[in-house]
Amino acid sequence: MAKTIEPKVFLIGESKVNKEGLQALLEHLGVPDWTSDAPSDIELISEVYGRACYRSFGTNLNANITRVRKTNQSYITNIIEKGDGSVLEHGVANFFLTDVSRVFTHELVRHRVGTAMSQESLRFVRLTDLEWYAPTVIQESEAAMAIFSKTFESLSDLQLELAESFNLDSLDSFDEKKKITSAMRRIAPIGLATNIGWSTNMRTLRHVIEQRTAPWAEEEIRFVFAKIAELAIERWPNMFSDYSYEMVDGLPVYTTNNRKV
Ligand SMILES: Cc1cc2nc3c(=O)[nH]c(=O)nc-3n(C[C@H](O)[C@H](O)[C@H](O)COP(=O)(O)OP(=O)(O)OC[C@H]3O[C@@H](n4cnc5c(N)ncnc54)[C@H](O)[C@@H]3O)c2cc1C
Repeated sequence: MAKTIEPKVFLIGESKVNKEGLQALLEHLGVPDWTSDAPSDIELISEVYGRACYRSFGTNLNANITRVRKTNQSYITNIIEKGDGSVLEHGVANFFLTDVSRVFTHELVRHRVGTAMSQESLRFVRLTDLEWYAPTVIQESEAAMAIFSKTFESLSDLQLELAESFNLDSLDSFDEKKKITSAMRRIAPIGLATNIGWSTNMRTLRHVIEQRTAPWAEEEIRFVFAKIAELAIERWPNMFSDYSYEMVDGLPVYTTNNRKV
């Protein structure tokens, strides 16, 4: 039974500070008592790398420095306002996006810089019941919903029919199954729900949130990046403190007055 489904966002990992290693570094640099009020490890890591550039952990390490920013928020905000984006690249988040269409994944993989991806293989994973995301214009039309439902239903049936015609269940050779499964996916629609793992550094995350929550981006990717932005702002508040949003067509559009970092 082919059914409609909504994309979901899971944050499965993020950069973590090695406390002993950081303390050893601070001792080596001559600031053993330096601490930060960073709300997350990702923000602390960026602050440490940034301050290390100017030895700005205090006023006693670099004779050129007479004062330093006191808080993680003021430090990260200044980095963003100056456009020193490379400092934000040290923090990485690992997302897993499920029940997204191949329309969505085609768009996501265009963002190559600062990312890593692992996409569900439809060469290995045999398609059976095709699930799908219904964009609003389709949801709002009874006729369109009926056509989409009928099409996904029938394409699901055709996958089962093909599997049966190749006797896929009784084949021993995994290579043979893979060859046939890969051939069968050619009649699958790009609207079918699938999964993709997406890791990104914070600089890229900011760039992609801004590009993909824009009103001119596609609905599904706007929907997913609205969820990602909400999560990112809550989890790494100083990294995104310059963001504001307004609702356009029922989805938030995130913007900043800062130039691209
Ligand atoms: C609303 C929307 C509609 C789109 N429509 C289409 C379309 O119709 N057809 C289509 O093909 N694509 C389309 N795209 C994709 C778009 O062209 C980009 O490929 C995609 O958004 C990736 O963004 P990016 O170029 O910033 O790359 P990212 O990989 O996100 O790179 C981040 C930044 O790094 C720098 N960078 C990246 N690569 C290089 C490089 N090789 N050399 C120098 N600097 C680099 C750039 O400053 C870039 O902005 C669309 C994107 C959006 C948001």
